[in-house]
Amino acid sequence: RARALCAWRVVPARAGPPVWLRARLRQRAMGGAAAPRSRPNVLVTGTPGVGKSTTAAALAEQAALEYLNVGQMAKEEGLHDGWDEEYECHVLDEDRLLDEMEERLVDGGVVVDYHSCELFPERWFDLVIVLTAETNVLHERLTSRNYSAKKLAANMECEIFRVLLEEARESYREDIVQALPSNTVEEMEANVATIGKWVEEWKPAR
Ligand code: ADP
Repeated sequence: RARALCAWRVVPARAGPPVWLRARLRQRAMGGAAAPRSRPNVLVTGTPGVGKSTTAAALAEQAALEYLNVGQMAKEEGLHDGWDEEYECHVLDEDRLLDEMEERLVDGGVVVDYHSCELFPERWFDLVIVLTAETNVLHERLTSRNYSAKKLAANMECEIFRVLLEEARESYREDIVQALPSNTVEEMEANVATIGKWVEEWKPAR
């Protein structure tokens, strides 16, 4: 199936269980139950260009959360394992990445920004936001990024077929997954306000 292609791409490089199953096994090995945290963790996902970074950074500021841009963290900390010629991107070292993220997320209060979501343990997140954009809007945003034609087409296809929304629904409880449109600045501001309010009112499960 199509995959969001960005500067970073997760590749199930080795033989063995698929990514989602490894995430589940990892979850079980770590106890499975939701860790007690006093503030929620929010995942903001979606096709490259839908507005994750802009929205997540604004949300972090408004709701006093820590902002974690996974692609940037991987780049800064060298959490990669080679170069994928076909997709013109680095291959993530998923195990190291997840270990580092676990430490950052354990106490809660983090907004995570990434163009995939099936690799993360389900228990990490209290809310999963899938941002969406209309085809013409996204096309314009990605064109200004100077992507190759192939990469542009792959990302457009990913949005048109709602790949990330489906991935989120397959990976997380349905009631914590929410799709929000992000075509205009007004929509972005409304999204930040809505999620910010939700964060403020969130109470840890007893
Ligand atoms: P992503 O992190 O999903 O790749 P970005 O946050 O980098 O997306 O946004 C891509 C581009 O679109 C940026 O130039 C940003 O300013 C713009 N943008 C993002 N969200 C919106 C929005 N809701 N309305 C208008 N422009 C937006």
